[in-house]
Amino acid sequence: MLIRKLFPLLQCPTCRSRDLFVEAAGLHCAGCHTVYPIHAGYIDLMPSGAAYDYVSKYVTDEAELAEELDYRELAPALLAAGVRDRTLRRLLAFQSTDVVLDNGCGSAKHAVWNADQVGLMVGSDPATLFADQALTQVALAQADSRSLPFADGSFDKAFAIDILEHFPREVIDTYLAESARILRPGGRMLAFSNTRELSPIQPLINISRRIGRLFVRAGVYDFSREARRKSDHIKALETWEDVLAAFERAGLRPVKVIFWNSLFTTFVEHIVMKLGEAALGRRSQPVTQAKSAEATPQPAGVAREIRARRRVRRQLRPGSPVYLALKAITLMMELDLWLFGWMRCGSYFILVEKPRV
Ligand SMILES: [Zn+2]
Repeated sequence: MLIRKLFPLLQCPTCRSRDLFVEAAGLHCAGCHTVYPIHAGYIDLMPSGAAYDYVSKYVTDEAELAEELDYRELAPALLAAGVRDRTLRRLLAFQSTDVVLDNGCGSAKHAVWNADQVGLMVGSDPATLFADQALTQVALAQADSRSLPFADGSFDKAFAIDILEHFPREVIDTYLAESARILRPGGRMLAFSNTRELSPIQPLINISRRIGRLFVRAGVYDFSREARRKSDHIKALETWEDVLAAFERAGLRPVKVIFWNSLFTTFVEHIVMKLGEAALGRRSQPVTQAKSAEATPQPAGVAREIRARRRVRRQLRPGSPVYLALKAITLMMELDLWLFGWMRCGSYFILVEKPRV
């Protein structure tokens, strides 16, 4: 069982004891006598008795979001997720011996996509919306990033994709301090997030947005699914200075930064993909949805996009024409990083290191 590989890394998230042992009911802490249940594919390592002010939308609305996020079956790493993944891999330069934490993994798609590159891939998230593949390929922990269930210095590398923009400032500080704690000296972390800063080429980027709005007005497509997904972005780190200061407070030293001025990306996301989605998502047969009677009604755009994604996913075997077309579009989006990555803007990849002394 893959989660057994977690045992040597663990410490009790409630009392920080490392004296944990397996018993019938789960993992027992000899320090505080909390029992952490072991489920199929993951361990529940949520701290016992902790009451936090901030709880992620993904935890509170887990059931409601499950259908909409469409998380159980993973697509290949393509489009914006593909660009994030390629950059993650390039900057963290995974080694076959690395012990790596996807801290706030969600479905754990990035963990799955990179699990075969490293010695042990661990995913941690307070919500358990894990993809089916993650349950078998990633060592998963249900955990709170403010009190990680891992011993000091257990990881060579960690990453935080689309995490920091969801947290208030004090949670960011605890999250980064905990990330620094579980990294070994010389260990590295990659974060992808965004501030409120605009790109110097924003007027150019906005041309695609304006054309996209014309299609919305004409009823060709809408952005309701995207709007819901982004609805809990706080962006407490408002400027790039805020970002650098937050990492400095955690004692993490910047190694490399790439900004994502989304000129090609916005063109693809607001026009090319939405037109494709509108074409593919048209309802061609009656929907056979067993749970539709009890499911909450979704905006037409959400249902349309989910239909399009399911339809495309069936044709997404690597090497298929649809796959190759989307791969080409992914590389086109990545041009934004190669051409404009030096130009400060809101979206950023930052690679940081925990100093060796
Ligand atoms: Zn304990």
